[in-house]
Amino acid sequence: MTSPSELVGCRYRAVQRAAHPDVPPTEAAQARAARIDAALAAVHNLLPQSPAMGDARYFRRVSAGKSYFETLECLAAGDTLITEAVLEWGRFQITVDILVAFEDGYLPIMVSNHRAARNHSGVQARYLAVPRLGLGSVLTGEFKIRHHALDTYRLALAGRALSEMDLSCGLGGTIGQDRTRAFLEPLAPLDEALTRALQVETPRAPRRVKECDSCRYWSLCSVELERADDISLLLPGDRANPYRERGIHTVGGLIEADLGEASLLAAAFRSGQTVVPRGLLSAPRFDVELFIDLEAYLDQGAYLWGAWDGSAYHAFTAWSLAEEASAFADFWAYLCDTRATATANGQTFGAFCYSAHGENHWMRASARRFAGQPGVPTVAEVEEFINSGYWVDVFQLVRAQLIGPFGLGLKVVAPAAGYHYSGDVDGESSVNLFLDAAAGSAAARTALLNYNEDDCRATAAVRDFLERSDAPL
Ligand code: SF4
Repeated sequence: MTSPSELVGCRYRAVQRAAHPDVPPTEAAQARAARIDAALAAVHNLLPQSPAMGDARYFRRVSAGKSYFETLECLAAGDTLITEAVLEWGRFQITVDILVAFEDGYLPIMVSNHRAARNHSGVQARYLAVPRLGLGSVLTGEFKIRHHALDTYRLALAGRALSEMDLSCGLGGTIGQDRTRAFLEPLAPLDEALTRALQVETPRAPRRVKECDSCRYWSLCSVELERADDISLLLPGDRANPYRERGIHTVGGLIEADLGEASLLAAAFRSGQTVVPRGLLSAPRFDVELFIDLEAYLDQGAYLWGAWDGSAYHAFTAWSLAEEASAFADFWAYLCDTRATATANGQTFGAFCYSAHGENHWMRASARRFAGQPGVPTVAEVEEFINSGYWVDVFQLVRAQLIGPFGLGLKVVAPAAGYHYSGDVDGESSVNLFLDAAAGSAAARTALLNYNEDDCRATAAVRDFLERSDAPL
């Protein structure tokens, strides 16, 4: 039997899994599984055990213990709430986190660490209150449901399995980061997405894609790719399609084709050169400067705003997301005070970041969410800052002036600019570190502060590198 996860992302994983069943999951995958276990435990704690006093309705909550046959027994018995259920459809075995007796059949519900829905005025969504699952009636609220591929396929497969037993109620549910609501939606559109996913053919060879970076099979696939000198080593995913259509399938072929920047990039890849300038390099410099980076926990909140001022690092932290508003207000005050002092002294001021999307998103979102709280700027003030000439995105400068065969992310460009990272924390491990930091771990807090300071200082190093256009490559 196979897992619905094989329908998501790289299809070559199924080939490698069949050929190499003993390759263990990566640490990051294990950490993700632990976070899902924690989410399931939180939801199980919320589920009802029995009806309220005086409610004579039949209600039975059971666990199927992740057994297909036990799940069939529970369904045959008409149990109301079945946790840890397993269904089968075709070659797929589907773990269904909760099956709820609903209308004339069963409602499959998946628990996810994604956001299942967002507040959205004017849009109505149906949901069940998790503490009343199997007992309460359908509620509505102003939410917009969000889809995540794996949850979609799991629900659609569960729907097909239930349909085969004539037990589908036609709806599926997802409990996301808001553990108190199971958002409902019709299975039919999800089933159409599943049909499309099932039509994708299994590839005969690997092609490098983004998820290779965190895939347990990379050490195997990379050998195959290098042996073939596959063009996806340079241009992952579908980026090489225009060259494949011209019959170019290898890095060497692209070098020989002499196709301008693409061939230059291929040659840099071959020689291991990280960045190649398009021409003379330049970047602005100001009398007073801040290099800013933020850390957020998934999309739940921004917990660390950091700034390097050229000689010292300043951090504004919210180790509990309840402190998020005050951390943002403190950061904003520091930013405005630094700018005001520079202006009062007749000095120019500039604030830099690397790829402003995250910072801009969280500044806008924080101004909206914490409007009216002490020290929190208005959305208009945030917009004024974002659109001012002293908010500089170093990544935009890099993209305009450099090409790089290994991408132009900060972790790639900063070492080429001479910056040495002090630690090896990455985005995935920072998620787990935040959970430890929120639980009070001093070591986790220190690691996250170092991680953030590193990125602030790395941004400064890249700016310096661009500004010194004679810098060696
Ligand atoms: S390493 Fe990449 S190509 Fe290979 S199975 Fe994993 S994601 Fe697919």
